[in-house]
Amino acid sequence: MDQPYRNRGVLVSLDPTPAQAQLMRSYCGASRFAYNWAVAIAKENLDTRKRERRDGIEEAELTIKLSWSQYSMTPLWNSRKDEVAPWHRDVTWHAFCSGVTNATIALKNFDESKKGVRKGEPVGFPNFKNRHSKQSFTLINVNRSRGWFSMDSRHVRLILPRFATDPRIARRRKQLQWLHTTESLCRLKKKVASGEWTIQAVTISFTGGRWQASFSVRQYSVAITSATKLLGPIMAIDFGVTHLATLSVPVMRLSDASGNVENPRHLEAELKRLAKLDRQISRCVKGSKNHAKFRLRRQRLYGRISRTRNLNLHRLSTTLAGSFETVVIEDLNVVGMVKKSKKNTAKALRRSILDAGFYELRRQLTYKTEDRGHRVVVVNRFYPSSKMCSHCGETKAKLALSDRVFECSKCGISLDRDVNAARNIRDEGNRLLTNEASTVAGHQPETLNADLRDRETKPLRRGRGDRYQSRTTQPARTLSLLA
Ligand SMILES: [Zn+2]
Repeated sequence: MDQPYRNRGVLVSLDPTPAQAQLMRSYCGASRFAYNWAVAIAKENLDTRKRERRDGIEEAELTIKLSWSQYSMTPLWNSRKDEVAPWHRDVTWHAFCSGVTNATIALKNFDESKKGVRKGEPVGFPNFKNRHSKQSFTLINVNRSRGWFSMDSRHVRLILPRFATDPRIARRRKQLQWLHTTESLCRLKKKVASGEWTIQAVTISFTGGRWQASFSVRQYSVAITSATKLLGPIMAIDFGVTHLATLSVPVMRLSDASGNVENPRHLEAELKRLAKLDRQISRCVKGSKNHAKFRLRRQRLYGRISRTRNLNLHRLSTTLAGSFETVVIEDLNVVGMVKKSKKNTAKALRRSILDAGFYELRRQLTYKTEDRGHRVVVVNRFYPSSKMCSHCGETKAKLALSDRVFECSKCGISLDRDVNAARNIRDEGNRLLTNEASTVAGHQPETLNADLRDRETKPLRRGRGDRYQSRTTQPARTLSLLA
């Protein structure tokens, strides 16, 4: 389909029966097996060619280079699966398919990183996975006709092997098929039924001590949900550690009167318990039942920490994205801030920075504003939001992290450090918006400042304004504006 679309994920926790959990573990194992097989043959091929080169064999005479593409790897697996995995009929082919696909992606990343095409940190040759790595498998959408959900929207279909030789699977087919979810999937089901979203794949994984299903959804048509009553046109956010965020406009039940949002520090609250679990694990014999028990407990605790963190961030981002037309944020370099080479950042501070989840907050704000036809404006990361006086514009040369109050030497204003920064970010966002509007106007058919309504444009009556009929609201977007 040529229609524009956006990808998104929908996560749901699962509550499988022991038999289902066992089956899913075997699927995960199969996926891992296929992954390792693909990595192994790629490695073997590389090593053979290397050896032959060393032995002085000419370039044309070398063993042919194995193609790492998914379209040659998957058929290769299919031709060899009877001999490398004679048990493959007891597991759905989706598991093997996702394992091989993931391996080809890992190999491609390595290849591109080596060639210098890939951005970011260098990627090494993929490692083999073992049963302690993260466990997952993906079911590709071949199930469109039968549907993914049960009638009551509380169960997800688990694809079973068609020709299982394992009698247990054949006997319990009906019981194994429907996985109970811990929350209703009513909304997803409705969207899929109306054709607004299509499910591309479902990844089932054991994450944070729990089974969960992640639907990758393709969203056609930019859905613009009607916003709640707007609290204001522009909101600037200054991220921090003392306060998770400082808002330029205080919001009731979210921040205090000066706009500070409390930082719940989910990880820090559990540090003692984590340390205790670590001690208990280190005292156990490796591979013993107690070792496994405590490891699962630690996994669950980490899972709970990250889930509560996300829940809190969702509460914040939903309100902000829904109540303000424009959200201005800083472009934080989180990876740079927590780099170990930075000696002046203490370990505890690095931990708190990661504990806050700034990037996740930005990600949530971005897609939620897009959904509502609002927007996010990103201020350049070198903009001196903390060092500048929001009143007169005087910039300080230095400002220590311990200085919580900003005092201007020129105009004598005394402000909370974060409040000052939030005001600066708001002003900078305003400046970027007016600049953008004046430069863009006239050059593009749709100007930025022209259409920012939060509801869909009503179609005109047929006959009089036919050419406006197909007009929908313009797609929302994130503006990454550089100062
Ligand atoms: Zn000043």
